[in-house]
Amino acid sequence: MSREIYTCPYCGQELKPWATPEMACWSTRVQYVCFNDNCPYFLKGWDWMRSQFQVNASYRHRFDPVTGETGPLPVWSKDAMKNGIIENQENQCEN
Ligand SMILES: [Zn+2]
Repeated sequence: MSREIYTCPYCGQELKPWATPEMACWSTRVQYVCFNDNCPYFLKGWDWMRSQFQVNASYRHRFDPVTGETGPLPVWSKDAMKNGIIENQENQCEN
């Protein structure tokens, strides 16, 4: 099965298909997220969140291919949300 390739407008890296853990099945709604730890959008987010909200958090670039919308995916650490990355769609459905 081929899938669409989307790239991050901030760093140019390929976005990874991502689903929240309880929805980690390919047939459910999948979004695309930039998980590049050196992405300028992600790196800038730390300073912005700290200055605006006094919290130690950031966000990653997120793209929804169904609606075409983009927006921030809030994360509290470098590894947050990474367990939702769908690397192999064959193994994601448990039923
Ligand atoms: Zn990026």
